Amino acid sequence: MSADSTPAAESDPQDGAGAYGLVRARVGDVHRLSPSFVRVTLVGAELTDVGNPGATFDQRIKLIFPTAAGVLPEPAAGDDWYAAWRALPADERGSMRTYSIRDLRVADDGATEIDVDFVLHLVPGNTGPASSWAASATVGDELLVVGPRRGRFDGGGIEYLPEPSAAVLLAGDETAAPAISRILEDAPAHLRGVAFIEVPSARDPQPIAAPDGVAVHWLPRDGSPHGVRLRAAVREHLDAAPDFDAAPDLDAAPDLDTAPDAEADAAPDADETADLVWETPTYSQTGERIEPATAASADHRYYWIAGESTVVTGLRRHLVKELGVPREQVAFMGYWREGVAMKG
Ligand SMILES: Cc1cc2nc3c(=O)[nH]c(=O)nc-3n(C[C@H](O)[C@H](O)[C@H](O)COP(=O)(O)OP(=O)(O)OC[C@H]3O[C@@H](n4cnc5c(N)ncnc54)[C@H](O)[C@@H]3O)c2cc1C
Repeated sequence: MSADSTPAAESDPQDGAGAYGLVRARVGDVHRLSPSFVRVTLVGAELTDVGNPGATFDQRIKLIFPTAAGVLPEPAAGDDWYAAWRALPADERGSMRTYSIRDLRVADDGATEIDVDFVLHLVPGNTGPASSWAASATVGDELLVVGPRRGRFDGGGIEYLPEPSAAVLLAGDETAAPAISRILEDAPAHLRGVAFIEVPSARDPQPIAAPDGVAVHWLPRDGSPHGVRLRAAVREHLDAAPDFDAAPDLDAAPDLDTAPDAEADAAPDADETADLVWETPTYSQTGERIEPATAASADHRYYWIAGESTVVTGLRRHLVKELGVPREQVAFMGYWREGVAMKG
């Protein structure tokens, strides 16, 4: 699977005819949240047709950024927007990337604001059009947004499907922080579980209005390799508290000698050689049929794991192959991959 052929990249628009719309939006506000995150608030009359407040969870959207010359493409905005966009000459297409809705606010008159929290990865050779755009975004800048039409729920793009599980475990790196935050803020007050979010620095954690029964643990990397703290925390937690109820000692610095080895974890299985792992109860990258969760699994756990693809792959191996967690109770999603630019 190439970087642009996950369901995140292509199949949404075809899932439900007319379920997705392409609209023009402009930057209404920019707020630097922390060293690694900038929040861009999108506004504009056309956004009134986008998104479902209160039921956003990990809804993914596409953002189309201007060309290097600063020109925003103008594909036809109908159901065939994707074909229209692909038909544009490459140097007029700009760049398309996938993001999460951190917040969606609708005023009494329907006016809509969407917050997108961008991770700033700006080291030369390790940056891209989306991160660069976000780093210099100013009020009035324009971009295109592809998202679910308000009131439509048949286009896909939400992978968080915990029912009928009794408790959840959410785990991800900084790119998954906005989705995990939104999931917890849209969740019912009785939800139980735990969330682990690995971020670059101790100044990156942000407030989340999570249900009381969900313990949120931020894991600053502070220079340790990507994914080591996340893997160690999830594995320790599952080994110590398979019912999610007890909290591990997360204040202790990870022991990098005994933490799961990054290289070993990243070694691909035959079915894990693709650029981005994407295995959820509704979509299997390998085409494997996954039986839907049933009432019989009502006391089981639901696992939602997203972030850098090899890190997610390592966690997938631990949960499914070592712990024997049924596949229908887990969503594993590679949100990006070290050294690979997303296409589009
Ligand atoms: C469903 C979904 C939801 C997502 N939600 C969010 C979100 O809310 N916020 C968010 O910031 N990201 C999110 N992402 C991840 C985002 O789409 C990728 O990080 C994307 O690659 C960024 O595009 P770019 O143009 O900046 O970099 P690209 O052009 O795609 O990549 C250029 C280089 O940057 C590297 N790179 C990409 N992302 C990172 C990173 N985070 N840290 C370090 N290096 C990186 C790549 O490995 C590559 O070497 C989401 C992805 C998916 C699939």
